Amino acid sequence: MEQALLFPEAFPVQQPIREKNSVQYFPLLAKTVLNSCNSCRLPNAVTLNPYRGCEFGCNYCYARYTHEFMNLDWEDFENRIFVKTSAPRILMRTLDCDKLRGKHIAIGTATDPYQPAEARFMITRQLLEVFSQVKGLTISITTKSALFRRDLDLFVKIAENNRFRINLSLISLNARLLRVLEPKASSPESRLASLKMVSDAGIPTAVFIMPILPALTDGLKTLESVVRAAREHGASDIHARVLFLRDSAKRILYSWLERHEPRLAQRYKALYNKRAYTETQYQKRTLGVVESLKAKYGYSSRPEKDLLVESFSRIGEAQGTFEEPDLFEGPC
Ligand code: SF4
Repeated sequence: MEQALLFPEAFPVQQPIREKNSVQYFPLLAKTVLNSCNSCRLPNAVTLNPYRGCEFGCNYCYARYTHEFMNLDWEDFENRIFVKTSAPRILMRTLDCDKLRGKHIAIGTATDPYQPAEARFMITRQLLEVFSQVKGLTISITTKSALFRRDLDLFVKIAENNRFRINLSLISLNARLLRVLEPKASSPESRLASLKMVSDAGIPTAVFIMPILPALTDGLKTLESVVRAAREHGASDIHARVLFLRDSAKRILYSWLERHEPRLAQRYKALYNKRAYTETQYQKRTLGVVESLKAKYGYSSRPEKDLLVESFSRIGEAQGTFEEPDLFEGPC
């Protein structure tokens, strides 16, 4: 039986509005831009994704499955990018601040809002222009791109009248590893340089160590280097989560491991055998290391809960178990 399309507005695919190397960009006339998160754990969440698909093509990204819902291949996630060209206009027309007060608008939960497409199409910037004209909202942006510093002028305006935070996603400072693992994301140095610039301007920032990859980025030295660098570049908080693997992400990560880290391929298959997450004990131990590093480097032990995309660790601790994260939490 043919699978129902969850995003019928994106199909059939139109002519690309741009092609660059192997990447095609298509317009997506979205009907709504703010999507309520249905999770009972995150009742106040509203997500906003300016694009569908992500050219950064991280080899562990679990958001790839969102392309499968459109009857596209998981590889298309990084090659066929849908640009929500009408999103700024719709946001301007439909933004209801009274209804959104007390909610958290999370920009970039199933895509990176500052991926390469943003340099040309500027959908994220146009959305921020709308938010810069309102008051009293809670807004965060999560990204692996250094491009976010381009919009510092708008961050300042938004932060004057709203609760606002930039979440920089950074899993390691090892540029060689990241070059093959997150092939088109910005280098760690350039991400951190943008973080410093924005933090120095008084914008609240955090670093997301998401995901922590078993036997690749879970070592004390690796975690400590990120926690320390985040502090040195102005981040006021750190959030971490151990790798979560849906089936579509398993296929691509296992294939990547065979090519780049063959010694780990079988180990990962055993770790994630018939499940999407690692043993609870491993997660507790690893996230405990991050917590102790946060204490060592002077991060607050009382995070601003309504400004963060709730981390896997905290949800697990609260419930005494570790569960599959929601899409709201973001793949980064
Ligand atoms: S993990 Fe984030 S940056 Fe990487 S491909 Fe997925 S959405 Fe893009």
